[in-house]
Amino acid sequence: MSEPLLPIIHTEGDKPYLAGCRCTQCGHVYVGPREVCAKCTARGAMEPVHLAETGKVHVWTVVHRSFPGVATPFLDVIVDLDDGAHIKGTLTDIDPDKVTFDLPVRVVFREAIPAGQDKPYLTYLFVPQQGAAA
Ligand SMILES: [Zn+2]
Repeated sequence: MSEPLLPIIHTEGDKPYLAGCRCTQCGHVYVGPREVCAKCTARGAMEPVHLAETGKVHVWTVVHRSFPGVATPFLDVIVDLDDGAHIKGTLTDIDPDKVTFDLPVRVVFREAIPAGQDKPYLTYLFVPQQGAAA
């Protein structure tokens, strides 16, 4: 398996997951590590967690122009994960005209190769959950 590029992708054995933290005082969940809870202001009260693998599309847009080497168009989304965290990502494997608010999605991990390079890296994407619009 290739190495993750993003620090929020951790692995347990060979299985990748999105890493986050949960406030032990109020229960709010965040993407990645944090020292202070933005919801209740508790300090040093975070515990590491595996983020939920499913969620719903909060909002999306179709990106038609991006950095050199990035194929367009693609769907840029903000997903409300089922554990309460919110995360930005790319939605794939769906016709852009079929995307709706609250579309159930799940995270998948795939290898990508940056433009002009030959070494792949591991990234995350969102795909529609089974039975959702495709
Ligand atoms: Zn808190």
